Order: sequence, then structure tokens, then C-alpha cells
Amino acid sequence: MPEFFINGQPVHAEKGQTVMQAALAAGFFIPYFCWHPQLSVAGNCRVCVVEVEGEGGGGSWSDIACNMPVSEGMRVLTDSETVREQRKQILQFILLNHPVDCGICDKAGECMLQDHHYTYNGEPSISTVPKVRATKYHQLSERIVLDNERCIVCSRCVRFTREISKSHGLAIQNRGDHSLVRAVEDGRFESDPYSDNVVDICPVGALLSRQFLHKARVWYLQATPSVCPGCARGCTVNLWHRKREWKLNHLDPQQNTEIARVTPLENPAVNGPWICNKGRDLARVFGRPRAEQPMLKGRLATLEEAAAAARRLIGQARAPVALVSSWGSNEELAAFKDALGDRFSCFVKADHQPAADEVVHDELLIRADKNPNTATAQQLFGSAPPAFADGTDLVLVWGEGFDFSALPRGAKVIFLGSYLAPENGYADVFVPLSIQTERAGHYTNCDGHTSRFERLFAKPPGVADAEQLFARLAVAAEVA
Ligand code: SF4
Ligand code: SF4
Repeated sequence: MPEFFINGQPVHAEKGQTVMQAALAAGFFIPYFCWHPQLSVAGNCRVCVVEVEGEGGGGSWSDIACNMPVSEGMRVLTDSETVREQRKQILQFILLNHPVDCGICDKAGECMLQDHHYTYNGEPSISTVPKVRATKYHQLSERIVLDNERCIVCSRCVRFTREISKSHGLAIQNRGDHSLVRAVEDGRFESDPYSDNVVDICPVGALLSRQFLHKARVWYLQATPSVCPGCARGCTVNLWHRKREWKLNHLDPQQNTEIARVTPLENPAVNGPWICNKGRDLARVFGRPRAEQPMLKGRLATLEEAAAAARRLIGQARAPVALVSSWGSNEELAAFKDALGDRFSCFVKADHQPAADEVVHDELLIRADKNPNTATAQQLFGSAPPAFADGTDLVLVWGEGFDFSALPRGAKVIFLGSYLAPENGYADVFVPLSIQTERAGHYTNCDGHTSRFERLFAKPPGVADAEQLFARLAVAAEVA
């Protein structure tokens, strides 16, 4: 474990660490653009330059911290006058052809170039010749656009597709100030299921999500920690939504209760700093038309009436079966087990199956089970596939994914769902349930890691929380 010195303070580094890694681990700040902890070292932006003091009073020299291994006793200065002057020159160079159109750039507010410019440069361009113009709106894929004028050619995006997603979907063509990031021509980037991660890791506003393009300034949004329910990996995510203090009253108030964007919430035990594109599209999953009204055989009812009718059916049933949701939280599944687990023969149901156009399973994150909590559901209710014994006279269906044509003949149905569906009106009792964004809870993923999701929005008035509903439905059999 070599010991070296940063700004005169002793620092212990791990064997093989670079100055950048050891400095960041010890709490020293060194700016960077092209370096990324999960990618190989490119060393092209040079902004992580540091000064290394010569031994025995010898002359010092400058080098980039991202590519310099720590050696015993070396003395590094991260913020000397020389370093600040060199960083200033580097930023002047990087900004030479940059349009500085922060006022219309989606990255404004979370742009590393803005931050480093104001820290180390903060002056107008020294150039006296016109800036080199480049493509302002290049559609890299259905999901992503590229502003080549803002690109600082750090190559993070290219390395991501080579080293992480392994689609090899991006490359840099031409040289110097004519360099252009481009997608390779066989559609590999278009079909890369992790492509949107390049928007996050682009240190400037060159790569932009088309979904989010010009939708909101990031300082109007807040991030709420959540878990992607798209597959059994259970990636932790941030769901971005409008801050309460920036609530819109007249202009498009729907934005107040919508997910504006989804980004990864770094979690080394589950997903690292990445998520797949399906996770980015959660707004579409949660934004489907909601069922907000309880029903009794298609007739509108109150929650009290629906709960009372469900209790009656449960009490009268001789052989009731429950199909338990694999989208239920740990808390909801435990509540069901406590309240109704002994009354029903319980089977775990897959609420979602792989869609025709999605990657079913891969080596990185995506799992074939498209449900977030099969692990807990099976732990509590077993892994036998759903089956109806002769005489089944009541079926409680919790969540999506069940084909109602498979119901046993003559059986009564209690359906607990969240979205508008024809089955809602068919059920003897239908109770609408809150969705993940309207409650807090935990999911346990395919590897046994448990992650928490928080509440973002209030649930609609006619909708029940499953945990409380199950306690209300606990009833003993009325028949022997
Ligand atoms: S598009 Fe962004 S990530 Fe890619 S090379 Fe340019 S600046 Fe770097
Ligand atoms: S890998 Fe699974 S859990 Fe992770 S973002 Fe994609 S769908 Fe969601």
C-alpha cells in the first residue's frame, strides 16, 4: 500500500491505483471530463492535470492524474498556481468551438463544462476567428440526438458501447475540429438496450434524450429514489418530477404528477451506475389510464361497498384461490399473507411477460423475469404454477397478467387492479389499487438484495392501498 502526498498531506493508496483514484478516495477534488470510474482511461481531455514535485528540490512536472500510477513518496499538487493556469488554458481550448448555448441546453444545471469553466476559467473566449460549425441536431437513434457543436470529443460514449453495453454502436470519424461522433451504420446503436446511459455520462450537453428534450429545466425537478419494476434485477433509479414549489397551476398542470425522466441511482450491489432503456420508459408504464372507481359487476360502488362485498364472498367461499401479484411490495405481500394467507390457496402470478420487441435476458442487467418481486412472493407463497382444483368457487386476482378466460366455471371473482381494463367490469368485485409511485415499500431482487422505493404523488381518492385493504378483508370462513 504505497504512501504518497497530496498537497502536502499523506495519503495511502491501494496497490495499482492511479493518482485520480487515490485522490478521489481520500476526498481530494480533481476535475475531469473524459475519465469515468467504470470506463478505460482515455486521457484526452487533460483537465485532470496535476503538478508532481521533483525529488530533492528538482524541477516539478505536470501530468494527468487519471493515467498516472501512484508511486511511493511522490508529491502531487492538485491546485497549485501552475495547475490552475494549465486548466485555464485547457478550458480555453475545449471551449474554442463550443457554442456556449447553455440557455437552451438540457444539460444546463448539471453540466461539468459549466462547472469547470466557472472554477478554472470564467473568461470570454480568446479566439479571434469564427467558431467551427458542426451538425446541431443529429439523430443518433430514435431515442437520442447529438449536438456536435457541444461535443468535446471525450469519447466516453464510444467507450461505453465498447466496454459496457458491448454493442460497439458508436465511433468517432474524422480528425481534429472536424471530429464527429456517429453511430455505426448497421443499426447496432439503435438496438442497444442500454443506449440511453450515454446521455447521462456525456459530460456536456452533446447527447440528449429525445423523450426529455426541452421538456423541463432540471432545477425545477426533484429526484425521488425508487426501484425499476421492469425486471427481477430491480435496478435502483431516480424518478424526476416537478418540485412542489415550482408547481404549474395553469400551464400544463399535468406535469405536476408526471415522471419527467428516469436516471440510474448508483448501486454497486445491484446495477452499478447503469439502467436499461426499459427503465427509462417507466413514465409510460405508470402513466397508463388508471382505474379509479370500485365496481360490483360493472356497477360503480364506493370503496366501503366493494370491501364489504369482497368480505362476504371470502367468508362464503368453500375453496378460494388467490393469484398473488409479483409486483406487490414486501410489505404488501406480508400483509396479504397475514390477513388472507390461511384462507386462500395461494399461487404467485407473473404480472408481466417479456414483450415481443424487448431483450429478454443478457449478461449485464436484464433478467427474463419481468416482475420486480417474484423472490419475496415465492418465498411467502411457494413457486408452484397457478392451478384451480375442482370446486374452486372464488378467485382473487391481484394485479395484471391473468387471462380471465382461464377462470374455473362458475367461480366468483375479486379483482384488485390499477389500470383501466375490460376485466374490471367483469369481476364480481373490483377494487382499484394505488401504484408504486403513490406509496413507499421494498422489493427484493433476483439476487436477494432489497431496495426501497419512495412515494412521489398522492393516490386518487377512490383508490385503495393494498396493505390496508388486505387487513380489511381478513375474514373467517362462514361455512364448515
Ligand atoms: S458526445 Fe458527449 S460523451 Fe460522446 S464524445 Fe462527445 S462529449 Fe464525449
Ligand atoms: S435491467 Fe430490469 S430493473 Fe434494470 S432498468 Fe432494465 S428493466 Fe428495469
